[in-house]
Amino acid sequence: MTAVEPEAATRGLVEIHDVHKSYGGVEVLRGIDLTIAPGEVVAILGPSGSGKSTLLRTINHLESVDRGSVTVDGQLIGYEQRGDRLHELREREILKRRTQIGIVFQSFNLFPHLTALENVAEAPIATERLNKADARDLARGLLGLVGLADKAAHYPRQLSGGQQQRVAIARALALKPKVLLFDEPTSALDPELVGEVLDVIRDLAQLGTTLVIVTHEIGFAREVADRVVFVDQGAVVEQGPPSQVLVAPRHRRTKEFLAKVL
Ligand code: ADP
Ligand code: MG
Repeated sequence: MTAVEPEAATRGLVEIHDVHKSYGGVEVLRGIDLTIAPGEVVAILGPSGSGKSTLLRTINHLESVDRGSVTVDGQLIGYEQRGDRLHELREREILKRRTQIGIVFQSFNLFPHLTALENVAEAPIATERLNKADARDLARGLLGLVGLADKAAHYPRQLSGGQQQRVAIARALALKPKVLLFDEPTSALDPELVGEVLDVIRDLAQLGTTLVIVTHEIGFAREVADRVVFVDQGAVVEQGPPSQVLVAPRHRRTKEFLAKVL
């Protein structure tokens, strides 16, 4: 039997506590609390403008918070504790910590002048985690995982949107992140290309990767997510298993939202 400290066993991999964020006096996150367990797949749903992207960005050090805290694997985002005082992290340390969190955006954001293989191998080389040969081996393996082993030498412009997004997922996996965030990963795709990207995300879920997915794909959320979190106007309105939130929502705003997207 493995000895696991009770605290470690119950601690969330991602812990978001009372997070507030304003832009120009408008509060877009109004006290978000959310804990994500290791291996958990969480789908975040909510109307446009409700703060979903901003929330993901706070987990990835792309956005600072005005109040509250975000920790990933016990490490505070943006700050470090020295003694009983908090100090803002230096850019260098932020970049280092950000490598532990993968993010995939709606627009694939691949480097246009690099091949699929080079796109995936870039970060492990740039961060000096791997030498070029090992990084290319890793990239080949990851392209295989997303079903693109035969496209390694292709440039982004030679790939479909669905293929580009799968390369972006492989690239996000290259630094072996503790958690992978998806911000509407299929929203920019033609309908016939959505399925191949969802298939890859489904595979990752089955492999036990911790995933936070902002999506409007209700059917997919229902099938793959362990938990659905409905966000509106910068707050968590309702959360629970998909069979509850998506099938028998309790709140009026959740019902109204689902009636619009279903
Ligand atoms: P969602 O992803 O749910 O559509 P966002 O998190 O993108 O919502 O945005 C929430 C609100 O914050 C919106 O009203 C948006 O216009 C505003 N917002 C987001 N980012 C910025 C920014 N960098 N500067 C000013 N306002 C922003
Ligand atoms: Mg968004």
